[in-house]
Amino acid sequence: MVAPINESQSLYEAFDYYHMDDLLTDKQRATRDRVRDFVQQEVIPNINPYWEKAETPWEIIKKLPELGIIGGPLAGLDMTEVGLVTFELAKGDGSVGTFYGVHSGLAMGSIGLLGSDEQKARWMPDMLKMTKIGAFGLTEPKVGSNAVGIQTVARKDGDNYILNGAKRWIGNATLSDLLIIWARDEDGKFGGFVIENPQETPGLTMENIWGKIGKRSVMNADIKLEDVRVPVANRLEHVSSFRHMAQVLGMGRYGVSWEAAGAATAAFEYALKYAKEREQFGKPIAAFQLIQAKLVEMASEVTAMQAMCMQLARLMTNMQVNEGILSMAKYHNARKARLVTSLARETLGGNGIMIDNHIARLWTDAEVIYTYEGSNEINLLIVGRDLTGENAIV
Ligand SMILES: Cc1cc2nc3c(=O)[nH]c(=O)nc-3n(C[C@H](O)[C@H](O)[C@H](O)COP(=O)(O)OP(=O)(O)OC[C@H]3O[C@@H](n4cnc5c(N)ncnc54)[C@H](O)[C@@H]3O)c2cc1C
Repeated sequence: MVAPINESQSLYEAFDYYHMDDLLTDKQRATRDRVRDFVQQEVIPNINPYWEKAETPWEIIKKLPELGIIGGPLAGLDMTEVGLVTFELAKGDGSVGTFYGVHSGLAMGSIGLLGSDEQKARWMPDMLKMTKIGAFGLTEPKVGSNAVGIQTVARKDGDNYILNGAKRWIGNATLSDLLIIWARDEDGKFGGFVIENPQETPGLTMENIWGKIGKRSVMNADIKLEDVRVPVANRLEHVSSFRHMAQVLGMGRYGVSWEAAGAATAAFEYALKYAKEREQFGKPIAAFQLIQAKLVEMASEVTAMQAMCMQLARLMTNMQVNEGILSMAKYHNARKARLVTSLARETLGGNGIMIDNHIARLWTDAEVIYTYEGSNEINLLIVGRDLTGENAIV
């Protein structure tokens, strides 16, 4: 059980130089503090051994439903709360955040946005309780950035589709009860096919990918699909083109923008604390101009990331976003997370390499943030296309 939360008081003060907190409602603040306290009590003290062993931190993750955050908007969270939850989880650990992002965002988001009422009624209740775990399989071994060109195929055969192809990097897949596989049907139409109990599905094989330097505690799998039968009733009802599915990716980019801001904020907080405590040449290293230059650069980047997230939440709430606006936040914040976490890492000197100090985890996770949910180059090119009307992606 998560310890009871005193709603008026969080366990610690987070870095919030421009008083973003003033912009929050009481409900948003309460949600944020609930997750923040969970991260302080459950995630930070316990995560490192899981990271080192590259194991799923199930003891931590299984408590997420108690926070009332699974499903995001489906659990009654507004867009700012959705962002704040992701921010706080990312401050604790990127793998816990990614587990949540895949299950609650990509998988539940796909069913919530693109499923029929019957499909939602069939799968959502268990997903909300996390008695069924979701995964989202888009990327393939030969198709990453060019996701529109996926090669997995779905051929109709009576009441089933027969899926053939391969997927790579699929988060939560080996733990999942509902694995969404994106494929093209015989008419070339894009489709999302929900595989129930994938571990027991004939023709489907999954293997976790080992040797990752980032997000080590989230399991990503290579998947092979050989004549895998999926009932026609499991094809997501409201998707026939890449554009439909891209709504889910848009939500993913929203989340990752907040995730990047959370990882960077945590790294800066650790670096500032360390710089004030660590002494060299008879004084705290925070007294050296070169260290202050790093701290100020980190603080100003983190503040810009936080401000961008808050305004993005407003645009999301008012339905004023387009793909360029979402990609700009992902592009900007992922780049800056990489910068800030590496400055924080070097501020700790040798100790910054140590997993015990947490920054190393945030730093390597920032490498993943930089590449997933559309690599930095792809997000840049989406913004470029939006600004100029010229498509430079292909
Ligand atoms: C830890 C992790 C978790 C993931 N989880 C999931 C998941 O749950 N589900 C899922 O479906 N996918 C997942 N992914 C996949 C992720 O979305 C892809 O890695 C990403 O889209 C990039 O694809 P790629 O790795 O194949 O790189 P590639 O597409 O091969 O790109 C290689 C390089 O070329 C650049 N490049 C490609 N095209 C262009 C272009 N037109 N112009 C300029 N540069 C270009 C890229 O930016 C990159 O730098 C995950 C990845 C990681 C690392």
